[in-house]
This record gives sequence, C-alpha cells and structure tokens, in this order.
Amino acid sequence: MTKYIFITGGVISSLGKGIASASIGKILESRGLKVTLMKFDPYINVDPGTMNPYQHGEVYVTEDGAETDLDLGHYERFTSAQMTRFNNVTTGQIYNAVISKERRGDYLGKTIQVIPHITHEIKERIKKVAAVSRADIVIIEIGGTVGDIESLPFLEAARQFRLDAGCENVLYIHLTLIPYIKCADEIKTKPTQHSVGTLREIGIEPDILICRTEKALSDEVKEKISLFCNVRKEAVIEAKDVASIYQVPSEFKNQILDEIILSHFKLISRLSNLKEWEKNVVERIINPEDRVAIAVVGKYVGLQDAYKSIYESLAHGGIHNNAKVEIKKIDSEEIEKDGPEKLLSEVSGILVPGGFGYRGIEGKIKAIKFARENNIPYLGLCLGMQCAVIEFARNACGMKSANSTEFKLKTKYPVISLLEEQKRVKNLGGTMRLGIYPCKIKKGALAYKLYGQGLIYERHRHRYELNNKYRSALEKKGMIFSGIYPKNNLVEIVELKGHPYFIAAQFHPEFKSKPDKAHPLFRGFIKAALEKSKCQD
Ligand code: GLN
Repeated sequence: MTKYIFITGGVISSLGKGIASASIGKILESRGLKVTLMKFDPYINVDPGTMNPYQHGEVYVTEDGAETDLDLGHYERFTSAQMTRFNNVTTGQIYNAVISKERRGDYLGKTIQVIPHITHEIKERIKKVAAVSRADIVIIEIGGTVGDIESLPFLEAARQFRLDAGCENVLYIHLTLIPYIKCADEIKTKPTQHSVGTLREIGIEPDILICRTEKALSDEVKEKISLFCNVRKEAVIEAKDVASIYQVPSEFKNQILDEIILSHFKLISRLSNLKEWEKNVVERIINPEDRVAIAVVGKYVGLQDAYKSIYESLAHGGIHNNAKVEIKKIDSEEIEKDGPEKLLSEVSGILVPGGFGYRGIEGKIKAIKFARENNIPYLGLCLGMQCAVIEFARNACGMKSANSTEFKLKTKYPVISLLEEQKRVKNLGGTMRLGIYPCKIKKGALAYKLYGQGLIYERHRHRYELNNKYRSALEKKGMIFSGIYPKNNLVEIVELKGHPYFIAAQFHPEFKSKPDKAHPLFRGFIKAALEKSKCQD
C-alpha cells in the first residue's frame, strides 16, 4: 500500500519547502524506502517553459523533456527518484485536461465543478505517479502559501485524499515560520497558530510542523506550539538556518523525523544510513581544503534562483575537489560597458550559462574571448556554447560578422542557426529540442577523458544549433567537435586545441549533477580552475 505525505507552507513563501520536501525524501530513502516526489504549482501556465526566469527562477528539464519547476531539481539532487513530466502538476494542466474531457463529452452532460471534477483530476495525477513509480512513499509538495485563493483546489484534493487512501496512509506536514522579533528579543508563534488555523478551516489537521527559525526553539516554545496547533510536541520540528542545504536531512534525522513518519505509517524499515552523505557531502562542504573563484557571466544574475542548478553543480564540483567555490555573479551587460579585464581578472574559471535573446550577448562573447586568450578554464552551457562558437568564428576565423540567427536573422555568417525543419514552427511553447539525446564522444578528446566513456545521454532545451556548413572552417583554426548527436549529425560539444580547459556543450549538464556525484564537466572545470588559481597566486 503506497503512503502519501502532503507538504504545505504557511505564513510566507520562500521558506524552503522544496528543500524540506527533498530532505524528507532523503531521510526516508536512507531507511531503504523507495520514494518519489511531486510538485503542485497553483499558477495557470501549463508549465514554466515560457516564463521569465525573473518571475519563476530556473526551468528544470527532466529526462523525458518536460520543462518543470526548479524544486524538481532539488528532488533529483537529494534522492535517487527520477522525475518525469508527471511529477510537476500545474493548475493550467488540470483545467486543460478537464476542459478537454468536457468538450469530448466524457462527463455525460454533468455540470463541471471544482469539486468534484477538478479535485478528482488532481487526485488521479497523484495515483498515476504512485502507480508508475512504484514508490513506497509519494511526497507531494503544494506550492504557494496556505490562505492563497489559487492553491485551494489542491488543498481540497489533499484533504479528500485521506478519505480515499485511509488515515494511516496519508500524512500532512506543514512548514511554517517562527519569526524572531529583535527589539523584543522574542520568537513569536502567533503566525504559525493562524496558519494552522487556516489549514484546519480547509479540513486539514497537520500531523507534523516544521518550523523555520533563526533561533533554537526552547522546550517551552515547542510546548506552546504543540498545544495551540494540536500537534504532538515531538512532531514540532525545528528547522534552523544552516550553512548548507545539504545539512537539512541530518537536522531532520537528528530530531527523529524519519521515525515519526514511519510510526504514523506503521512501516518497519532498516536503520538510517546517512553516513556516506554526511562524510562525502556535508563534511566536505564545511571543511574545504581549498577555495577557487568562478565567474558566472549571465543576464539573470540578480536572482539567486535563475541559475539554481548551475550554482549547485559548481558547488558539487567543489565538493568533489575538496574546495569551496566562490561564485562571482557577473552581469554580462557590465562587461559590455567596462570590458572583461576589470571584472574577470580575479577569477580562475569562467562559465557562461544558457539563455534566450540578444540582450547581454556581446558581453558574454567578450568574456569568452578573455577566457580563450588568457588560458582561463571555460565552461559554456547551451547559449554559452553558441556564444563560444560565434566568438571563435569572429576572432579566430576572420568571420567578423558571425552571429546566431536568433540575434540577427540576416547575417553573413550564420554559424548558429535553426535547422530547416524548425523554420516552419510557430508556437513558442513546447517547440524546442527538449530532454535527453545520446551523444557520441570522440576518443582522445577532453570530453572523453572527463566522462570516461564514448556514449553519454544529456538533457537539452534549445532551438538553435551549430551550423554544419561552418564546421570545417572552425576546425581548421583549432576548434574540436568532440561530441556529436549521431542521428542528425549535430554538434553537442566543442573544445579548443591547446587550451587547458575550454569545453562547451549544447546540452545542460547542470541538470544531472548531484552533491555526491558531481557531473564530469563540472568536476573537471573546478579541477582546472584550481590548477589555474595556483599559477595566479
Ligand atoms: N537561445 C538558444 C537556443 O534557443 C540557447 C538556449 C539555452 O541556452 N537554453 O538555442
């Protein structure tokens, strides 16, 4: 019998519900249970694919090519659950499905309503993921904050789910904030009481409270929360701010959250095994032997969430090499104004991430030229590869006006362009090369050394490709095409002859990196940057 955990959030957003959910997944997995996770997003967009990163943060791409919420990235990094397009559900998808059924006549003339039709559709999604994943426990994170109008149908579905699946098979966890009021030197439980009250009005009584707090919760405070919120005292879990998100599973385990969950479900399992994680991830983050500065040159550097998986992957590269990675977030438009020397002289590695549109492109190209000419390790991701090709064409192959047709439709040297068959596509939503594709790697190339194999699978999210017409011209001047998608003969990885570490990929390696298993391109990048930093000292 599958067990279900619903995780709601109270008081304010951005409390780290995604990390809390992923960490709960981790501690349950460490007890030998198979888990999977789902995210419900109450917005009306069908998926975040067309949203501005400043609105939504990164778009996380799954193996099967779905454009999803970035919390799915946390789920994959913390657990071994594999996310699919069914693990992220939005209001847009639910209404889309219900309206299509109504138009087809599936409801046999009934009036279609939020209850029961919308809630039924939501519950069906959960059951489908449970069936396909064959997980022992399905963890469902409900986006938004309790009290929002938008998330009501999801909360109602969560309430009904206990009736359908049985009390002993469903558990509700509420993540809340216990604010510290500085001038009174006191922490306050009132917002939590109100938030739990609102949840109860909907018909959900939380079994466990996870309390985000700056200060430790005294026994007295825990008792008060327990009494007012009707939650057992030991089920009031303290979630104090920690130095690294990867410490959260241990914080939970130390408060026997895994035991509390398992005893609710009456599940018996092996003892917890978080030792490896604590040794290989947490210990290394807390006590790094080295440090290295890396520049991320992008256009959404103002928002922490916009390049989430990239920042995490850099940290993973650091964990692997026993070094702390100091990330310098550099707005590529600043490089356009001030030149690369001023902003990039102090770093030992340069990364240009993915992106869309022309703004900031010339700054990225300048940063790449700086990396190429000064032997600074460079890692280009998607757009970061396309810019590397444009830069090399312009500055090493004499094609002064080389460009991507994304930025200049009529250009003399369209080194990056759409494939013929793509030119007919009109809609922006869902028209990209998405999800995993195989890539063959050239023996002897840097990529081969890094991956240690000749065939890899990586995730994509882009429309434009390297134009094969220019391959021989680029190759003559020292560009190496070390990774190819064999079926359509498309370039997936480029490198530069004679450079210590210049590697750029059309795909997104950042979606497959894990804290205890850093992605090969990030591992190698940080290693090369550390070597570079030794000669810079
Ligand atoms: N804008 C480029 C394309 O569509 C790159 C996309 C990306 O970096 N994700 O091909």
